[in-house]
Amino acid sequence: MISSYVLVDDAFRDLVDFDADLVKLADGCIWAEGPVWIPAESALVWSDVRSNREWRWTAADGAAVFREPSNHANGHTLDRDGNIITCEHSSNSVTKRTPDGTYTTLVDNVAGGRLNSPNDVVIKSDGTLYFTDPPYGILSDDEGFQRDSEIGENYVYRLNSETGMTMVAADQFDHPNGLAFSPNESIIYIADTGEPQNIRTMDVAADGNLSNLQFFAAPDPPGSDGLRVDQYGNVWTSAGDGVHVYSPDGELIGKVKVPEKTANCEFGGPAGTTLFITASTSLYSIETRVVDARRA
Ligand code: MG
Repeated sequence: MISSYVLVDDAFRDLVDFDADLVKLADGCIWAEGPVWIPAESALVWSDVRSNREWRWTAADGAAVFREPSNHANGHTLDRDGNIITCEHSSNSVTKRTPDGTYTTLVDNVAGGRLNSPNDVVIKSDGTLYFTDPPYGILSDDEGFQRDSEIGENYVYRLNSETGMTMVAADQFDHPNGLAFSPNESIIYIADTGEPQNIRTMDVAADGNLSNLQFFAAPDPPGSDGLRVDQYGNVWTSAGDGVHVYSPDGELIGKVKVPEKTANCEFGGPAGTTLFITASTSLYSIETRVVDARRA
């Protein structure tokens, strides 16, 4: 048996058990993305962006369609009240789904017009949402519906959940995509799937402003689309050949080899130590020894 884990630096030994198996939980997707663990339901919800569906998996019942059509939903996160926050390409919106299944639009327009196609979202512990708005849902009919951008730019936005106000948080990215906070939320990691393809960091001020753009890492083969941060501040990011794991100072320490191009990952499972991986047609999981920084 060949391990799915690849050791690059000894620091990785503390994070995983090299005997753990990569398990395929579901397949049949076109472009699996946006996984979110729902602790109250012991369920994993994810998107098949290109088939305009969302899926839900539980250990008891396996995979089933969760919503169709899904407005070409992409990234998800969970808010403090257990609501699912969803980025939707073809409604150019970020929505909130309460556990009873009611959807509310949080934002679909800014001063410049309709959003492009919100891709991924993260919530700071004070309730502030940050989301990215690259053009993947409007470039063609593959991941949404082709149209011109009304804004003409691909920004990272910040949404104040108290006031409902949305403002540009960062304008230095080509195609901003996945995002995650460091354990103390002083740093935000932002993946860029445009040019250049890499992950950069910005400092997060107490008032929510972002500044001090710095290079963090550029996975090889490229493909840093979605990412998560563990309790120790290590960054788990999708890459062309699986999940790559970087120490907080940006050193590659290990990998999870996945047989398909990988889009995103999410910690969950009964102990929070299961890494769920959305990779092209499939959903995979593998056990780790760490939990998400947000759940530590
Ligand atoms: Mg993405």
